[in-house]
Amino acid sequence: MTKDKKDYDLIIIGAGPAGLTAAIYAARYKLNILVIGQLPGGTAAEASEICNYPSEGKISGMALMQKMVKNVKDFCIEIKSEEVIKICKKKIFEIQTKKAIYCGKKVILASGTKRRKLGLEREGELAGKGISYCATCDAGFYKDKIAGVVGGGNSALTAALLLSKFAKQVFIFYRHDKFTKPEPAWVEEVEKNKKIKKIFNVEVKKFLGVSKIKGVELSNGETVNLDGVFIEIGSVPSIELAAQCGVTLEKNYIRVDKEQKTNVAGFFAAGDITNNVLKQIITACAEGAIAAQSAYQELVKGN
Ligand SMILES: Cc1cc2nc3c(=O)[nH]c(=O)nc-3n(C[C@H](O)[C@H](O)[C@H](O)COP(=O)(O)OP(=O)(O)OC[C@H]3O[C@@H](n4cnc5c(N)ncnc54)[C@H](O)[C@@H]3O)c2cc1C
Repeated sequence: MTKDKKDYDLIIIGAGPAGLTAAIYAARYKLNILVIGQLPGGTAAEASEICNYPSEGKISGMALMQKMVKNVKDFCIEIKSEEVIKICKKKIFEIQTKKAIYCGKKVILASGTKRRKLGLEREGELAGKGISYCATCDAGFYKDKIAGVVGGGNSALTAALLLSKFAKQVFIFYRHDKFTKPEPAWVEEVEKNKKIKKIFNVEVKKFLGVSKIKGVELSNGETVNLDGVFIEIGSVPSIELAAQCGVTLEKNYIRVDKEQKTNVAGFFAAGDITNNVLKQIITACAEGAIAAQSAYQELVKGN
């Protein structure tokens, strides 16, 4: 473990839309910053198709996030693809990864969310062997195969639509009797798609197959043969680092004020990890911008 000799004005943890936008704003304020993000691009890079980011029309999540990463790198800002494992608040913040300790006067946590698991037996063992949490990454493996999608929100429907471009049949398993959560535009597309079959009022109870998924058993007792199943049941916030520093949470999200400040001095949060009302790319970007501006103002005042 090495200690980075530099003291940064600001360390941004997370390289999704919130962290990257914070970096762009901080660079324009000429702050000395570091971005640490395990997966540059973040969750947004997993979206198969984004149609609601102004000026982009239709764009894949990967393409949009590559543009944002490039935008940050064009400011000569370093993005370290490392996992932060610990934050210690001393006089300044010490941010520890497996490789090094980085020190920053201010921190913006933009660590987003992780995919929610179904919590069934053998889910971990079969992940990557027919169980997937990322349709954008894995849909291409299902050419002429049969795939299932568990869930009933935007992610589930967009996953099913993407899979239908490759698979010969796609099932959606949803525990309610209709879709009420997703954008109506996605529901309409699913309704029109002949390859997609919806099975409502069921839960997946068991994964079938020994070394690879062969199907699922449903709560109504039926079994469905599948080559793979995509779990698209939402996300949980990555709040472990915030909890270490005594940051106040609200229903497991970080409580922030209008300036993206938390209860811990010098510790800001932005994006899907906060208690905001809309978890989208545009709101994550906006919060990242505000967090950078707030950090800058405190640094200028010498707080
Ligand atoms: C399938 C899918 C489709 C979507 N489609 C749309 C859409 O069409 N339009 C839209 O606006 N939104 C969409 N979203 C939502 C959008 O992706 C999120 O709102 C957005 O990505 C939130 O940005 P963020 O920066 O807060 O977090 P994330 O994008 O989740 O980024 C978090 C970053 O933090 C890093 N990180 C986490 N923990 C650590 C750690 N310990 N150490 C270092 N780095 C860490 C991650 O690696 C990542 O770089 C979609 C989401 C999904 C899952």
